[in-house]
Amino acid sequence: MLFSFVFAHELRHVYQSRFAFPREEIKKAVQPLRRQLNYIQMPPKLFVEAEVDSELFALRTLNEMYGRKTVAHFLKSTPLPRYPYPEYPCLLQEAYGLLQP
Ligand SMILES: [Zn+2]
Repeated sequence: MLFSFVFAHELRHVYQSRFAFPREEIKKAVQPLRRQLNYIQMPPKLFVEAEVDSELFALRTLNEMYGRKTVAHFLKSTPLPRYPYPEYPCLLQEAYGLLQP
């Protein structure tokens, strides 16, 4: 499942190089999260809009492929390469919840 996550993330960057993505919406959603105590110590590079967009795209892809329950278990049990600490999947899931239609 980690391979699928990383592959989807990288494919999203290919998409971003050719088409627009919701940069402003991501910025608006992520800025308040970034100031929360549990996320404030995280490196700024995690909050770059193109990276957040790719991570959320990967999350959405996995949710569609494997179902949300399975993906939630995966995120709890597998450290993600970008930031292998438990607060990162929490941040992603919060941002995902804010940005889904
Ligand atoms: Zn990336």
